[in-house]
Amino acid sequence: MTRILIAEDEARIVSFLEKGLSAQGYTTLAVNTGTDAVALARDDTFDLLILDLGLPGRDGRQVLRDIRSRGEKLPVIVLTARDGIDDTVGSLSEGADDYVTKPFRFEELLARVRLRLRDEQSPETTLLSVGGVSLDLRSRRATHETRTIDLTAREFALLESFMRHPGQVLSREQLLSHVWGYDFDPGSNVVDVYVRYLRQKLGGDVIQTVRGMGYRLIA
Ligand code: CA
Repeated sequence: MTRILIAEDEARIVSFLEKGLSAQGYTTLAVNTGTDAVALARDDTFDLLILDLGLPGRDGRQVLRDIRSRGEKLPVIVLTARDGIDDTVGSLSEGADDYVTKPFRFEELLARVRLRLRDEQSPETTLLSVGGVSLDLRSRRATHETRTIDLTAREFALLESFMRHPGQVLSREQLLSHVWGYDFDPGSNVVDVYVRYLRQKLGGDVIQTVRGMGYRLIA
């Protein structure tokens, strides 16, 4: 069981992270102050820390300095604001392993998390295959039967979400947060538009509409 501590004071980001990470099988705990993060971020309790730099109490950089000076070695991924380049660089020199700039897509954060946990876990899957469709996550190449399919970055991310959950119904909301991030308008029909693009490229029967619920990749 992989346990992830989330230190973030913005409730919608916490909920976005907790939903997404627990759907991937991780166990999460969220705190909303730097003081609580320092108290809980221990190697024997957590495998990874996701740390917002702008936290009340002790800010993220103080948290980093405190836990590193105590000798904790758990990987830390910091969440930074777009205009916080000095803080980002500072946090890396203070012991952060990686960073993600807000706003971010869930898949982007997940890739960082997997990368940081990789040493402890089985090697990451780089090829997803469902039915006749294959995705090479390293070369970003998609094939259907023997045919190569040209996908845009968004189409690829959407198909990857489906292929990580074959046969499972994914709601528009889930797909929006996985592929477009938490800042996207939940009323948007962008998911439907991109599902249509994927159907045009893969053939209409690969992604099924489940009325009132969402979409499912036929396994
Ligand atoms: Ca914050």
